[in-house]
Amino acid sequence: METVSNFQKLQASVPENVLIVAVSKMKPESMIQELYNAGHRDFGENKVQDMARKQEQLPKDVRWHMIGHLQTNKVKYMAPFVHLVHGIDSLKLLKVINKEAIKNNRSIDCLLQVHIAKEQSKFGFTETELMETLASETFKELEHVSIRGLMGMATYTPDLERVRGEFKNLKRIFDKVKQEFFQGDSAFDQLSMGMSADYQVAIEEGSTMVRVGSAIFGLRNYS
Ligand SMILES: *Cc1c(COP(=O)(O)O)cnc(C)c1O
Repeated sequence: METVSNFQKLQASVPENVLIVAVSKMKPESMIQELYNAGHRDFGENKVQDMARKQEQLPKDVRWHMIGHLQTNKVKYMAPFVHLVHGIDSLKLLKVINKEAIKNNRSIDCLLQVHIAKEQSKFGFTETELMETLASETFKELEHVSIRGLMGMATYTPDLERVRGEFKNLKRIFDKVKQEFFQGDSAFDQLSMGMSADYQVAIEEGSTMVRVGSAIFGLRNYS
């Protein structure tokens, strides 16, 4: 019950053109089902095994978003069903996703992750690496991945003005990439940024997709 009311409150504070990905990592299937019954379809997980297990048990029209760091050897377990992969941080990973997409006779939607935070622990391309990757011949040959936009995570800090600066930077990179590599390509239209603590700032700075976990499902128990 609380999950649904948390979600509805969140939804009321988010513009209609911004998609809420309900991050259900470490939460049981029953909580996902509850929100599904209320009409929501987009859920995010950060571990392939967990996502595959939940996908088997839950209705087949759930749209599963892979939001975590990915190992190439796990791609095959999600390739048949994943809706959108948010965290692409290497050309090698993109090549593996392309190969698995071919095996499954489909195309897989992906977002390229950009490193915008000050923390070293966060993943993603630097701006230079991103430009080089997109310009490479190898990238152009990948016909079974569809690049739908960019994703980024801001520094974990209560300083929301710093967070705002990082989101502004990601939006600038998004606009530049769109202009240089995806002009006239209407599929490149998604900017995944914002979590429970900073989704409002992210939306003000141009996010089209927020990944919200604890503000919907409550705090995660890591013990
Ligand atoms: C866990 C996670 C989220 C959601 O975090 P909350 O603070 O619970 O909203 C969003 N994005 C990524 C990549 C995550 O790993």
